[in-house]
Amino acid sequence: MTGKRINKKTKARHQKKKEDVKRISKDRIKTLFKQAVDTFKENSKLSDRYVTLARKIAMKYKIKFTSTQKRKFCKHCYCFLMPGKNCTVRTTGKTITYSCKNCKKFTRISYKKKSSE
Ligand SMILES: [Zn+2]
Repeated sequence: MTGKRINKKTKARHQKKKEDVKRISKDRIKTLFKQAVDTFKENSKLSDRYVTLARKIAMKYKIKFTSTQKRKFCKHCYCFLMPGKNCTVRTTGKTITYSCKNCKKFTRISYKKKSSE
């Protein structure tokens, strides 16, 4: 009656490793966005580069950006957005509209109260 399933355990461990990679990548993305903010004043082009890198990591590991991260770059030209600097922010009811000064396009984000993120 005491049949321990070792095989199942090893499988679980393997999955954990995969999760670790995801967790590390998420951290990396977070850091990249932080660096993009920090560097913007001195070098906005470098900020754009950080966004590109973050997007590449996200695509590779199928990671979704958090709603906060999504607001930090333009959906059309993928440049890093700094409100008041290279984009203007307007809130209309339930959506936030970011207008990118780089490509002159709008990015609309609806904001709802979320339980997570
Ligand atoms: Zn843009």
